[in-house]
Amino acid sequence: MKNRLIFATANKHKLSEIRAILPNHDVLGLADVDIHDDIPETGKTLEENAAIKVQFLYNILQSGVLSEDTGLEVVALNGAPGVHTARYAGEDRDPLKNMQKLLSELANHTDRSARFRTVIAYINDLGESLYFEGIVNGRIAEAISGTEGFGYDPVFIPEGYDRTFAELPNEIKNAISHRARAVNALVEYLSQGNI
Ligand code: IMP
Repeated sequence: MKNRLIFATANKHKLSEIRAILPNHDVLGLADVDIHDDIPETGKTLEENAAIKVQFLYNILQSGVLSEDTGLEVVALNGAPGVHTARYAGEDRDPLKNMQKLLSELANHTDRSARFRTVIAYINDLGESLYFEGIVNGRIAEAISGTEGFGYDPVFIPEGYDRTFAELPNEIKNAISHRARAVNALVEYLSQGNI
């Protein structure tokens, strides 16, 4: 039987990436456990937001549950948009407007280096909280390009490549991404016999 991992997310893109990264696990999202609430993300850091989401799920299910929060941290913008990545250009969380704002903020900067950072929060069956981080370094492209992936993928060029995540095959993103690194750190921890 496959090990079950329940994530406090309604984001289909995140779930499909995590499923591709972990083909031997049964990865469930909020809808799969019949939870349809929009969990407020009011934390000041990725860690706080991940904690809020996982605690919400734990309060309902009372067993090993997970969440993840991701931010894009741009060096020339002092780490922005960071925890505000989803709503960078407004409450409607529009990916195109977010990318356009980012490109215009960077117009007068030569340093385009950036990183994606994912924090996974896990509450185990004993109610203990654990955190796992994954980072991919890269840079912001000059223009929006590509159709794969989601969010800011069309403007993020991972280190070692000359194309955006949205121009690269999913297999490459899922092998090197912030999310893959955080998920693999979690699985490594669980595979050591930890609960
Ligand atoms: P959240 O973790 O769902 O709050 O997402 C924060 C923001 O980062 C949203 O705008 C997402 O679209 C974006 N985002 C999260 N993960 C990725 C990714 O893997 N690639 C590109 N954008 C992402």
